[in-house]
Amino acid sequence: MARYLVTGGAGYVGSHVVLALRERGDDVVVVDDLRQGHRQAVSPGAELVVADISDRRRLDEVFASWKFDGVLHFAALSLVGESMREPLRYIAENVSNTLWLAEAAVRAGCGRFLMSSTAALFGLPESVPIDEGARLQPLSAYGDSKLMAEKGLDWAERAHGLRTASLRYFNAAGADPQGRLGEDHDPETHLIPLAINAALGLGPALTIFGSDYNTPDGTCIRDYVHVTDLADAHLRVLDRLNAEGGLRYNVGNGQGYSVREVLASIKAVSGREVPCALGARRQGDPAVLVASSAKLQRETGWAPRYDSLDEIVRTAWSWRAAYPQGYRNFSPTVASV
Ligand code: UDP
Repeated sequence: MARYLVTGGAGYVGSHVVLALRERGDDVVVVDDLRQGHRQAVSPGAELVVADISDRRRLDEVFASWKFDGVLHFAALSLVGESMREPLRYIAENVSNTLWLAEAAVRAGCGRFLMSSTAALFGLPESVPIDEGARLQPLSAYGDSKLMAEKGLDWAERAHGLRTASLRYFNAAGADPQGRLGEDHDPETHLIPLAINAALGLGPALTIFGSDYNTPDGTCIRDYVHVTDLADAHLRVLDRLNAEGGLRYNVGNGQGYSVREVLASIKAVSGREVPCALGARRQGDPAVLVASSAKLQRETGWAPRYDSLDEIVRTAWSWRAAYPQGYRNFSPTVASV
């Protein structure tokens, strides 16, 4: 059994990873300021320290209170549009929080560090599927902040021997198949939850951002990867960090689905039409983003288990239909492991 520090463990991807760690019997200490995260999303077997990770004194206290076998770092600003309005805050916070956390891990003698990263590193890709050799050319301050953080970790590795990993997620989607956790962002900007909310009458009609792309149906194609599969990828990469560092992986299903295919899937799964209207393109959206996870599969044995769009949508739909207000009307006992 091992013990891990998980920043942002009350957030969407972080909480699913905490659940997976608890399920395999690991101890977990979550540090989350609950600005975006939800107390009810933290599996009860995990310790929750409510703190801002930029508070270095609190971080030192956390490292003094527990001995960790690794750090998983999820807490970050992550809205592309917001990052273009406040680029300096995004870069300052995301980079410095990652690097001071890595520095604290080094001082505490904790040898493994895994950070969540993004397909936004690749900007407008030159070809798809996108593998780890693709050119890194972020178009947003958010993407650049993650690239700079990854580069900082390269230095932690070179100078201090910290073994680091970064997982570049494509479109994280879905919810725990047993209904113990789900997706609840405020504001919500992602396609699947917005479309489900529209279909359930919980939100406005969906605007399709552009229908004149060079794709078969004119709408953007993305690689939706189930959050439980993402969690499994983290556990495998964490284990691989025992032996080696410098791990950088793209994580996706390897299959692309258009916006219209997502809406059709919601209809097929739920029987409900998604009210929608055609709108303008969203700035900076590439037509197609699909991951090659071949390296991750080869080196860790990972493979997506929930790889059909309908399965992904079904888990997202079930959670939102059961908890229309998200974690506000969520019974925390459901999340116990
Ligand atoms: N999208 C859309 N309407 C929305 C939100 C998203 O048409 O209200 C499209 C968006 O242009 C992209 C896809 O859905 O092609 C996925 O967007 P999301 O924001 O979920 O993830 P991203 O690809 O930006 O990481």
